[in-house]
Amino acid sequence: MPEFQTSPGMRDILPPESARWRKFVEVFADVVGSAGYGQVISPLLEDLGVFQRLGEATDVVTKEMYDFVDKGGRHIALRPELTASVCRAFVQHRPATPWKVWYAGSQFRYEKPQRGRYRQFDQVGIEVLGADDPHLDVEVIALGWEFYRALGLRQVNLVLNSLGEPADRARYVAALQAYFESNLDALSAESRATLQKNPLRVLDSKRPQDVELVAAAPRIGSFYGVEAGAHFETVQAGLHILDVPFVVDSKLVRGLDYYRGTTFEFQGVTLESAQNALGGGGRYDGLVESLGGPATHGVGFALGLDRTLLACDDEGVFAAPPAEVAVFVVDTTGGAEAMRLTTALRSAGISADRAFENRSMKSQMKAADRSGAVYAVIVGTNELSDGTVVVRPLRADRTDGDGQTAVARTELIDHLKKAMS
Ligand code: AMP
Repeated sequence: MPEFQTSPGMRDILPPESARWRKFVEVFADVVGSAGYGQVISPLLEDLGVFQRLGEATDVVTKEMYDFVDKGGRHIALRPELTASVCRAFVQHRPATPWKVWYAGSQFRYEKPQRGRYRQFDQVGIEVLGADDPHLDVEVIALGWEFYRALGLRQVNLVLNSLGEPADRARYVAALQAYFESNLDALSAESRATLQKNPLRVLDSKRPQDVELVAAAPRIGSFYGVEAGAHFETVQAGLHILDVPFVVDSKLVRGLDYYRGTTFEFQGVTLESAQNALGGGGRYDGLVESLGGPATHGVGFALGLDRTLLACDDEGVFAAPPAEVAVFVVDTTGGAEAMRLTTALRSAGISADRAFENRSMKSQMKAADRSGAVYAVIVGTNELSDGTVVVRPLRADRTDGDGQTAVARTELIDHLKKAMS
């Protein structure tokens, strides 16, 4: 075994899989770009305080953060998510509202690694700051839905909830607290600890001991005031209009303390329940304020790339694009001609590769086959002196009449472009 390997929960993403990762982000950028979202590129490191604003009851912040003191004595952290960074950027730069942005990149959480759960993982997401229209919640959710469609995923369930206005939420939290406290003995030790910090998060517990108690807990639905009720109705009506199917689950609270109003999660049907959240989000009015900005409405989502690709594998969709070039140049005259030809082809927009180390014709042809190229362009001593090349189709589906053709070097690019069109 080599002396050094990736640390736990971290992976190398190699070709061709890496091409799939890039395409994933491209598809996402197309979907949200067509809705007017612009990309924000945030630093990987922020002051620890930025993430601490996400809340004391958030595991991501209290247990899973990679933080350290830098050489300048600043306490900083590797970002565990991007909503806080986007809100910090909003406060710092004060862009015009509504500010519609998207992001893509790696996040870091010190979790117990397992399938679909890593210490470095990637997310794509959107955030809209500075607007409080329920139609915006609909737009955000529908864009997530559309993105999964664009990948070809079909087995995704959208689960929706509303945590109400802050006052509704506060009354509900009090009722929930009273309920769990009157049943304290039946609650697991972990959930008793969670109860002290955030009673809502107890609803997240999947521990067998808590299941019954959680199922019988009071529901947020009966605590909505007029405003929250109307907002939630409009969100649901909007999703119906856009034919985005969903189920309402009043136990869905999600990780961030700051969520209020709409919350939602996209769940992968094919994944195990502990790791079935492909992505999620909601309204988080209040986060910008806690970072020192003006009271600002926010809504957004983050979707996990790693887990979504596992779901794609399960459904047999969105495979890694084949790593292929169009042309492979075989040069038995020393390699300088291959150097000239591959460069000329690439400049003309035709992808091209070649062999190195002056291998035999046979070995170069093997490499040409392995490359997935559509054509081999072959140069031997005769061709070199004639100013020609031989173009040989490499794939069974591309026989082009009787196989290979001699082509003048000056005509090669036109010939290939015509042949490949
Ligand atoms: P969150 O930021 O916790 O709301 O997570 C949003 C999405 O990011 C989840 O639904 C997952 O798809 C993904 N995610 C979160 N944590 C991890 C992790 N440790 N490993 C892989 N994906 C993750």
